[in-house]
Amino acid sequence: MSTAVLSDLVDELPEGVVVIDADVVEAYRADMASLVEPGRPLAVVRPTSTTEVSRCLAWAQRTGTPVVPRGAGTGLSGGAAARDGSIVLSLERMDRIREIDHGNHLVVVEAGVVNADVSRAVAQHGLFYAPDPGSFEVSTIGGNLATNAGGMRCVKYGVTRQSVLGLEVVLADGRVLTTGGRTVKDVAGLDLTQLMIGSEGTLGVITAATLRVRPAPAKTATFIASFGTLDQGSRALAAIFASGITPSVLEMLDRHTVNAVEDHQRMDLNRDAALLLIGQTDGGASVADADALVELCLEAGADMALATSDPEEGHLFMHARRLAGWVVMEQGPTVIEDVAVPRTRIGEMLTRVEGISRAVGLPIATVGHAGDGNLHPMLRLPDQSEHSRRMGLEAADRICAAAIALDGTITGEHGVGELKREHLHQHLDATSIDVQVAIKRALDPGGILNPGRGF
Ligand SMILES: Cc1cc2nc3c(=O)[nH]c(=O)nc-3n(C[C@H](O)[C@H](O)[C@H](O)COP(=O)(O)OP(=O)(O)OC[C@H]3O[C@@H](n4cnc5c(N)ncnc54)[C@H](O)[C@@H]3O)c2cc1C
Repeated sequence: MSTAVLSDLVDELPEGVVVIDADVVEAYRADMASLVEPGRPLAVVRPTSTTEVSRCLAWAQRTGTPVVPRGAGTGLSGGAAARDGSIVLSLERMDRIREIDHGNHLVVVEAGVVNADVSRAVAQHGLFYAPDPGSFEVSTIGGNLATNAGGMRCVKYGVTRQSVLGLEVVLADGRVLTTGGRTVKDVAGLDLTQLMIGSEGTLGVITAATLRVRPAPAKTATFIASFGTLDQGSRALAAIFASGITPSVLEMLDRHTVNAVEDHQRMDLNRDAALLLIGQTDGGASVADADALVELCLEAGADMALATSDPEEGHLFMHARRLAGWVVMEQGPTVIEDVAVPRTRIGEMLTRVEGISRAVGLPIATVGHAGDGNLHPMLRLPDQSEHSRRMGLEAADRICAAAIALDGTITGEHGVGELKREHLHQHLDATSIDVQVAIKRALDPGGILNPGRGF
């Protein structure tokens, strides 16, 4: 592309919105998918308003320039990695909370607002925003919506899509689409809100969202249980699922993850445990519920299980879980995989992951949202070499194949991005792919929005 074409965009937008400084552009090239090699973008565009996003996309459509929408770049499947000759459209400066409507339990936020900032803002009104990906202190609402992010509280409160009432989206031609609204019920027309959620920047650029918030639970209890064998842990999970009690959090760490957390910060977790469960219950019956779940874990053979209603102690246990992904990544090049299986098959999946680790010769530490059957095998690569990369890809292929074989899916919450396109085609049938391609063509006939990502 000629510099003259880019200077048209510079002229259309306020000073400083289009950045071509090489050092700055470099900082926006990659996301956190270590197996995806990012391309070289022409520029980074950092709008502060929906109108600026709209002008940028109209220009991109006119000039046929690929656009890679970007939040905080914490994605793990390469969806926000730059492409050659693209512009990276960063929503980070659209970070205003437009409104908190206490009566209707909703909040209207711009796409660049960080997840934890929504929680902090609504907490002052006795409310909470349920979706809490492990990256919640960094990742943006736009990125969470575009990936339909999960997190720890999904087991009770659902994934991101269950907390969205409406969206403001800029289409590929620059038009602004408003979907949904402020009501609890709404069946007027096709559900375009849900179509956009999880579309990974391929159908439109989300600029704002109306999110559903809930009254903060009055009480929370936390429980932890450790098991000497995977079999005991699986029996405990089956008993919890059958108990009729819905925990608000139900997480698991395998032995390698427990040791990584302990190496980082001593918490006196059992380093020999084959499986550690950490969970929470909330609401009026939280303490009795947590005690009942501890009892089920002991009956299943836990060598240690306890519950606490002390918020500080509970926070410490949850902190151990939240640290997991970050501390494993700190230890060296890591690929955080993401698959989901029917939750009664978690034990089988963990056994298969151990087999894959031995077969490929890569250490794998697995952490997961046990309540959703969503596991993150974390592949520890020896170094950044091409050989290590190939080992990582081989292990990832086998993990996805194992999840499919167990009636699961190739991604539970991180999305397809660039990394999992082949896996997607193994997982979905041709009709499903055809329908998705038809929707993409209808909304983005020039194919400028995050090309080569998703389906
Ligand atoms: C340690 C760690 C823990 C994590 N834990 C979880 C977890 O528990 N659950 C979970 O689901 N994920 C988790 N993730 C993955 C990641 O944080 C999520 O996918 C998150 O939603 C990405 O948000 P982001 O702002 O960083 O988006 P980015 O990485 O910048 O973008 C992600 C995708 O969304 C698109 N996109 C971004 N903004 C917009 C927009 N405004 N409009 C349209 N498209 C857009 C991008 O093009 C890309 O395809 C974790 C990541 C890390 C590093």
